[in-house]
Amino acid sequence: MPPIIHADRCTHCGMCATICPMNIFKHEKGQTPRVAYPEECWHCNACVLDCPAHAVELRLPLNYMVLHVDADTLHA
Ligand code: SF4
Ligand code: SF4
Repeated sequence: MPPIIHADRCTHCGMCATICPMNIFKHEKGQTPRVAYPEECWHCNACVLDCPAHAVELRLPLNYMVLHVDADTLHA
């Protein structure tokens, strides 16, 4: 499932569009980015982590939720 941008929090900085490795966002200066290619999202979470306004929400597909491991919980 593609990310959701909460327009009420978005500051239009464009970081999500810059950071997304799949280029799914289209961003015009001064506007909230638009999810242009939702089917291309591979749920890497970079847009969520790098949004300075915490405006991006990612809804993981069920199979991702089952298999997901939080890297912070891994110890050598
Ligand atoms: S990174 Fe966050 S604040 Fe910046 S444009 Fe994207 S959603 Fe908006
Ligand atoms: S989760 Fe990754 S691939 Fe999907 S929109 Fe965000 S940065 Fe792009």
